[in-house]
Amino acid sequence: MKRAWLLLTGLALAPLATGGFAQTMDFDKVEIITEQLGPNVYMLTGSSGLDPSHEDAAGGRIGVLAGPDGILMVDSQYAQLTNKVAAAVRRINAGPIRYLVNTHIHRDHTAGNANFAKMGAIIFAREELREGMVRLSKAPNAAGNPVADPAGFPVVTYGMGPPVKIHMNDEVVDLIPIRAAHTGGDTNIKFEKANVLFIGDFYRNYGYPFIDINNGGSLKGMLEGLDLTMKSADTNTKLIPGHGTIIKRDDFIPYRDMIVAVAGKVQQLIGQGKSLQEVLAAKVTAPYDAKTAGGTDESAVRFVTELYQELKGGK
Ligand SMILES: [Zn+2]
Repeated sequence: MKRAWLLLTGLALAPLATGGFAQTMDFDKVEIITEQLGPNVYMLTGSSGLDPSHEDAAGGRIGVLAGPDGILMVDSQYAQLTNKVAAAVRRINAGPIRYLVNTHIHRDHTAGNANFAKMGAIIFAREELREGMVRLSKAPNAAGNPVADPAGFPVVTYGMGPPVKIHMNDEVVDLIPIRAAHTGGDTNIKFEKANVLFIGDFYRNYGYPFIDINNGGSLKGMLEGLDLTMKSADTNTKLIPGHGTIIKRDDFIPYRDMIVAVAGKVQQLIGQGKSLQEVLAAKVTAPYDAKTAGGTDESAVRFVTELYQELKGGK
């Protein structure tokens, strides 16, 4: 059932407006790799070695549910890759792209929103995510930022509470709100029948966890999110992170333990009156560095800095 193939370019599609980020990335070289996860559920992953922010794969991963009722997508990638993503979706199914759900606000997951909305997709996301986009659109540097394009704002929003359910293609899609974890507006997306769960970025196995406190993320929410996700998955569920490799539910256990242990050490050092520089110098992630793939130095500094700021009680 599992098949993977390479999609080269979106030759059939006219170029779309992309918006200019200061990305040192050659979008032309990116290939979108499609992998089937279930009878009608797929994931699209950018090729590796091109995105300086994510060496393992360019941009954020996309989910696709395809069938006679049309297409539902999870996340929209960088705007510069819309043509290639749309071509990859078309290779799966030529039906209308009806719904787009965002796991969280980061531009490697949402910058293509406006492009897909203009193709007819209705965007679903957390209220907090929409508020973040509205805020961005009012920032002085908003022009040219595709995340700040009102055409890409979510149309249907929801807060914390029971999952929003979308019934299509003989599948039930649960949009499961996660309390402030990676960002303040995270959603897990579960395809019940296929038993596939897209978990955005609050878990990652490429580099250390990223708690984006500037966008509302929190350590407490991340631990709660891990617990909630473990409850909404069984041992066979395929968990699909926004970056990195596919995991199973029990992979969360050492990950959660690592977060709790590192946070505990940071808390202890704060208790001893240590400064951020001293805490960073203490290399509290050292026991985990060898086991953590990808850019550990930079992401360890980011992770420990976030923990310090949150545990110290202020940004
Ligand atoms: Zn992210």
